[in-house]
Amino acid sequence: MTESQRRYPGSVDEPLAAGRFSAWLDDMRAAIRGEREADVPCAGCTACCQASQFIHVEPDETDALDHIPAELLFPAPRLPAGHKVLGYDEHGRCPMLVDGGCSIYEHRPRACRTYDCRIFAATGIEVEEAQPEVAARARRWVFTFETKEDTALYDALRAAARHVVERDGSSLTANGLAVRALSFEPDRDSEATPAPRADRTPPRTRR
Ligand code: SF4
Ligand code: SF4
Repeated sequence: MTESQRRYPGSVDEPLAAGRFSAWLDDMRAAIRGEREADVPCAGCTACCQASQFIHVEPDETDALDHIPAELLFPAPRLPAGHKVLGYDEHGRCPMLVDGGCSIYEHRPRACRTYDCRIFAATGIEVEEAQPEVAARARRWVFTFETKEDTALYDALRAAARHVVERDGSSLTANGLAVRALSFEPDRDSEATPAPRADRTPPRTRR
């Protein structure tokens, strides 16, 4: 029996390999810091593009802004002028999702480049009920734990996630909470901090 099976007994029928936990954590934290993009093995899944999410587009994202029709962008609530959100249609789909793929993939917003649904499997934070397809996908990821460091990092992240949910649970999306848990430092984060950049939605924007 592998360590990953021991830690997630019977959790899913069709597991997806999420990779080694510590490596994923390093990469995801780098994505949150803006140093890289998320590299999710989506394998044709577009669940998060159809999950009734407002996509936050920041003023400096000129390439994305140039490729999204202006009529699809709206001022982001509670943020300074220039911050925009890309909405969704009556089916919850991003309007840039065309024929099962992102029509502006090379120009997609930063929020899309840093989104990784493995963050829910890692933190244990529940995806919103309004996003059942994302939740189903998130439940399938299974990390591997090759050393005690992997296990210790996992336990620390779970503890941070519990703290962040208790402190900020009413003010952030599930993704925002999970991103904040990855950035959590007990000595520094004793008070609530602004919403993390890698969240897809502006602070406190909920559907
Ligand atoms: S829900 Fe997860 S696997 Fe599906 S497209 Fe989004 S990031 Fe990829
Ligand atoms: S811009 Fe592209 S990647 Fe982002 S939500 Fe829309 S379709 Fe998905």
